[in-house]
Amino acid sequence: MLVFKFGGASVKDASGIVNLANVVKQYQGNQLLIVVSAMGKTTNALEKLTKSYVDQDEDVHDIFNDIKKYHYTIIEELFEPSNPIFNDVANSFVEIDWMIEEEPHDDYDFIYDQIVSIGELVSTRIVNAYLNKAGLNSQWLDVRGYIHTDNTYREGVVQWDKTKESINKDIPSLLQKGIVVTQGFLGGTSENFTTTLGREGSDYTASIIASCLDAESVTTWKDVPGILNADPKFFEDTVKFDELSYSEAIEMTYYGASVIHPKTIKPLQNANIPLLVKPFTNPGEAGTVIKENGINKFEKPVIILKQNQVLLSISAKDYSFISEDHLSGIFGLFAKSQVKVNMMQTSALSFTVCIDLFEDRFKKLLNGLNQSFRVKYNQGLTLITVRHYSPASLKELTDGKTILLEQVSRNTIQLVVK
Ligand code: ASP
Ligand code: MG
Repeated sequence: MLVFKFGGASVKDASGIVNLANVVKQYQGNQLLIVVSAMGKTTNALEKLTKSYVDQDEDVHDIFNDIKKYHYTIIEELFEPSNPIFNDVANSFVEIDWMIEEEPHDDYDFIYDQIVSIGELVSTRIVNAYLNKAGLNSQWLDVRGYIHTDNTYREGVVQWDKTKESINKDIPSLLQKGIVVTQGFLGGTSENFTTTLGREGSDYTASIIASCLDAESVTTWKDVPGILNADPKFFEDTVKFDELSYSEAIEMTYYGASVIHPKTIKPLQNANIPLLVKPFTNPGEAGTVIKENGINKFEKPVIILKQNQVLLSISAKDYSFISEDHLSGIFGLFAKSQVKVNMMQTSALSFTVCIDLFEDRFKKLLNGLNQSFRVKYNQGLTLITVRHYSPASLKELTDGKTILLEQVSRNTIQLVVK
């Protein structure tokens, strides 16, 4: 049994969906479960819609109309007007109409999940309908009844035992009847509310389902030839890895390599299921295989950029030494504001940390810190992580840039630059 994951870029327009069906055709004869993300940049647009609704801005309806128009243009290209898909899509969107008719009362993260999840519910309806139209017998599955999470909205924590039980109860028999198409990124609580698993979480969904069903492999279909040593948007002459070990892939995603969601690899490693990263435009190519004993060959260093970073320098108000007591207080505040530390360093008088800028979380953190500490910060920075580096490669990367913080270990160097 195979699990495929198609991300937003692969289903961003009608030709993407036609291509998806062509890829799937080449795997006929296998039991196949397909995880699909929201189309193109839909999740970003739905995030904007959520914010606008909660702030009660006037542009809510314009944002929503653009989202609808985008989807309708695609289905008009793919289907006859009599196809039931037009109704299914309208029925999914109407859920948002009902929500935004009323004034917002609930917690922001709860509202976010109820609205943003519509992106995946709609995209999977469309993909499923198109596969059937193309003669590939396919069934639509609502993943929210199978991936059970707690009620941490926007960052649902998977309840593994219950999830495994539900998945194994129904999905194997569905797979015998035909292809199963389901949503990435979504989960459900015990009260049947929708949760999401964190941005870009569809890879993680594929990995959860594959590990519960002990799949043969997971393939994530991308707009790149496989895993590259650096992001081709920023670097020329990138090289593709044919193989990687699970541990190397975990390290890369931990430092921010965005090709795979960081939570994806561990469940696959535990179940010894290989992860294939392949180009959706050239399905015959080998791509990259991540597996136990994958051979890591580093012709070039791995370079990972994280932009929009903030460097915070925290010191005691009375200029005393930074003690373990201070540090435990500081970490408590980071945990409470859900701010993740990307890199840190202590000196006698200050504690320096590099973090991603998420406005609301950052504000909460600053409010807490300001009570007991003196805080200075610098925004708009880039965190560069280089693994398996050479002195020459470092020089090239840092030429002409101001380095604000640097940390070196045997395999990895991290630099915060302006
Ligand atoms: N659609 C969601 C996002 O854009 C999940 C995903 O793409 O994996 O974050
Ligand atoms: Mg996406």
